Order: sequence, then structure tokens, then C-alpha cells
Amino acid sequence: MSATSNIAVFLKKESIEQRVRELADMINRDFQGQEVILVGVLNGSFIFCADLIRHLTIPTQIEFVSISSYEGTESTGQVSFRLDVKQSLVGKNVILVEDIVDTGLTISFLLKHMKLKNVKSLKLCSLLLKRSRLKVEVPIDYLGFEIEDKFVIGYGLDFDGHYRELPYIGVYGE
Ligand code: 5GP
Repeated sequence: MSATSNIAVFLKKESIEQRVRELADMINRDFQGQEVILVGVLNGSFIFCADLIRHLTIPTQIEFVSISSYEGTESTGQVSFRLDVKQSLVGKNVILVEDIVDTGLTISFLLKHMKLKNVKSLKLCSLLLKRSRLKVEVPIDYLGFEIEDKFVIGYGLDFDGHYRELPYIGVYGE
């Protein structure tokens, strides 16, 4: 376990739990009587996906994608796949699930990629958004929280591979 003495709690466990339930309720309403495929963006969204799917009452499947690192994305704008969805998404209701939208470059790339798969519908669900950092417009259908420009960790989000296990979202070094 990593040291947590220099981490300030930013979003409490209870606030996250409640918001995740609300997002799931919206998805349940919007897709009543239909099946959805959640496509989680690894690694950051794995806890969010796990909590979200347990509040869905509609038929649901889950897949994951993994793309090149944040640093690579920031410095070069290049994005490449480490893992892509295994099954065909043709005619499916797909919800891309991201932990945080920062510049928006990663998720824009993924949305374009998913659109090419002839899906029935494509929605974006992100737990967090740093609106002031956006470099491209991103249509977020299900948004957890809009946050200031701070580097956050916990609830799946890491700092150098650590702190993903924290049940809350915190700001490092505050
Ligand atoms: P974008 O392409 O929108 O700039 O970057 C999105 C990705 O950058 C996220 O999926 C996440 O991996 C990483 N990222 C952006 N902001 C933060 C942050 O505040 N904390 C952490 N841990 N990762 C972040």
C-alpha cells in the first residue's frame, strides 16, 4: 500500500457511490429493454466500470480497450492500441467508459475508432472532466463530475502506477 499522508480527499467515497448509481439509473432509463456493451478504457476505468455495471439492470456485456500512455498522448498526439475489443460491435449499443477526460484527445480517437465499427449507438460515459483543459470538443453523454485542473488519483486513477486502490479521489501533494 502506498503512503497517503500527502493526499487531500477531493471526492469522498460516498459522493462517488451516489453519482455512479445516478449514472447507472440514466443508462437503465435510456436503454430500457435493450442490451448495452460497456467498453472500458484501461487501466484507469476498471473500478468505475465494475461499480457501474453492478447498478445496471438492463442486459450488459463488458469489453476493455487499452491504448498508449498519457505522456505519449500529450507530447506527440500519437495514440496506438495495446488491446482492442474482441467481439464484433456491429449493430450494438456501445457505451465507452473513461475515467477522466483531460485534453479529450484520447477519447476523441477512441470515439472515431468505435464509429467505424458500424455500431447501432455510441455514447460516452466519463467519471471526470477537466473542462478547462479540453483541446477538442468531446460529447459526454453521462458525466460524473466536472473538476478543476488538478492531478487526481484514486478510484482507479494512478500516479506512476500507484494509488488506484484508494476508495476516494484525492489530489496528490496538497
Ligand atoms: P486526455 O487524452 O483526455 O488528455 O487524457 C486522458 C487520460 O489521461 C486519462 O484516461 C488518464 O489516464 C490520464 N489523465 C488525465 N488527467 C489525469 C489526472 O488528473 N489524473 C490521472 N491519474 N490521470 C489523468
